[in-house]
Amino acid sequence: MSASTPTVNDSFGEKIVAKHPRDEMLRSERLPNIWCPGCGIGIVLGAYVNAIAKSTLTRDKQIVVSGIGCTGRFAGYLRQDSYHTVHGRGIAFATGIAVSRPDLEVFVIAGDGDISTIGGNHLIHAARRNVDLNVIMVNNFNYGMTGGQHGATTPLGSKTHTSPYGNVEAPFNVPYLVAAAGASYVARWTALHVRQVTNAIRRMMEIEGFTFLEVLSPCPPTYGEFNGYPEALDMMKHFREKSVADDNADLSTVQVSTGADDRIVVGNFIDRKRPSYQELLAQLQDRSQK
Ligand code: SF4
Repeated sequence: MSASTPTVNDSFGEKIVAKHPRDEMLRSERLPNIWCPGCGIGIVLGAYVNAIAKSTLTRDKQIVVSGIGCTGRFAGYLRQDSYHTVHGRGIAFATGIAVSRPDLEVFVIAGDGDISTIGGNHLIHAARRNVDLNVIMVNNFNYGMTGGQHGATTPLGSKTHTSPYGNVEAPFNVPYLVAAAGASYVARWTALHVRQVTNAIRRMMEIEGFTFLEVLSPCPPTYGEFNGYPEALDMMKHFREKSVADDNADLSTVQVSTGADDRIVVGNFIDRKRPSYQELLAQLQDRSQK
């Protein structure tokens, strides 16, 4: 063991050598992570580091911006430049980085409360501008970290601490919203679809423009407990039974529902070429210098 080999404490306080195969990309000294048993966020973290490892990107060319909440802890586990920013403002913060440093591959990785509820306005305007930015929204259907309040993605009828008799607020159909706003790439998978999530992240890095990936994720202690998925594998089984892959789905119909049509439509829905915000800014700069 070299002097620089990272070590972590096991659950008995003993020092053990960290041997994670992606040690060079993870701050192993911060493990074990904060997430609950059965949470899907760690799966997305694994998919992200595997996608980066398969790319030609060097570490000094990647940036991850996270917001606040359970997924907001994502940035803290990465051994690369990463920012843990203000609640709901990850996209605004990352837009500044992406516009001033177009040579960097910028990701925003945050939860549904952060991206689509508190930060919903930033989401639709970044998609409208087609900012060359990659957004991964881990959707656990509630505000998990603060104890399980309902938000903009909580399905109608679902129970949370703040909707104990069933949610009466119609949720966003986020892929439909982001596609309508103008995103270059829109996909949805679940935490069960590890390979598809990894491949989607790889595709996002290839595209010049706003790319968006929704990953539906289990949250056993808050959303799960209230809605019939209290154990770690319950919602994964639900994802396996109900997921229907359809890249050509009519996005107006892909709302996640707890009703009679409780199919979960997943796929790489939108992949199209539009000029990015950065491209248009560069053209404007060229014209203004002539
Ligand atoms: S509360 Fe839910 S989202 Fe947060 S860490 Fe626990 S399982 Fe994951």
